[in-house]
Amino acid sequence: MPFSDVIDRGTHAGHRRLVGLLARSVHRGTLPPSLIFSGPAGAGKRLTAIATAQAINCLSPRGEGESYDACGTCAVCTRIARGAHPDVVIVEPGDSGSIKIEQVRDVIERAGYRPFEGRRRVVIVNDADAMASSPQNALLKVLEEPPPSSVFILVTARPDMLLPTVQSRCQRLRFQLADQGASDPEAREVARRVLELAAASDEPRLRIEAAKDLLVNTGSGGREDREQLASHLQAMASLIRDIELLSSRGSALRLANPDVQPDIERLTKAYRGKRGLSAFESVDRALEALDGNASVKIVADWLVLQL
Ligand SMILES: [Zn+2]
Repeated sequence: MPFSDVIDRGTHAGHRRLVGLLARSVHRGTLPPSLIFSGPAGAGKRLTAIATAQAINCLSPRGEGESYDACGTCAVCTRIARGAHPDVVIVEPGDSGSIKIEQVRDVIERAGYRPFEGRRRVVIVNDADAMASSPQNALLKVLEEPPPSSVFILVTARPDMLLPTVQSRCQRLRFQLADQGASDPEAREVARRVLELAAASDEPRLRIEAAKDLLVNTGSGGREDREQLASHLQAMASLIRDIELLSSRGSALRLANPDVQPDIERLTKAYRGKRGLSAFESVDRALEALDGNASVKIVADWLVLQL
């Protein structure tokens, strides 16, 4: 599953950007030795980690820069995809649901040796939040002084469960769910209105009024509120992606929300280019904060000030 396949599965702009960043780093040899791939389940974190291992070790890679990629078909690529390559180690929770300290010690010991066949050993810790603090501390030692030929990728939907010391040693890449096509019309209407209000005024007080719109239908408390706000934010991400498509290519063919194209065209004036990208990243961060149990009011207030 090289990068190109990962992109085919999740075609939104945020995902393409992350994959491009990884491809370029692998091509230039500047990939950091310790990474965290965070984001909700189903966002493609694990597949992207495997694609990274392939791009690092493929026998006949192609492309360059952001298009650098594994071939997906050589002996190394196919063995990595099957989980049968000696230099690509995947650590996962066992039946107990946790990752034991022995599993971590085992990979640390292996990481001390040169790769058997590949260029760099890649250790993927899947569901890294399933490590209690003692396995995390064991791992921390190796993250503090990473062996030159190893790369560690911690994959997690709950990065806040990792020790701050572990988090600080790793470069973090935030994944989000791929677009599910057109958004829920009600959520989209809320998102559109908030984008328009934010475009119309820089006045913080008025912006905070717009946050109330984002919180419409919340108030029952807890998880349901977070899901309600998340659906408004996902609709907003989908609209911003369409704005980017319309302003960069002028093509309406691949819009996720073609039925509201006139609205999107109007928003394009305010959100084309840098502002749109920055808004997209802010929505991404807001969604992640919701995953980490942040309060809906704080997230909504913060977001409207960033748009
Ligand atoms: Zn290959």
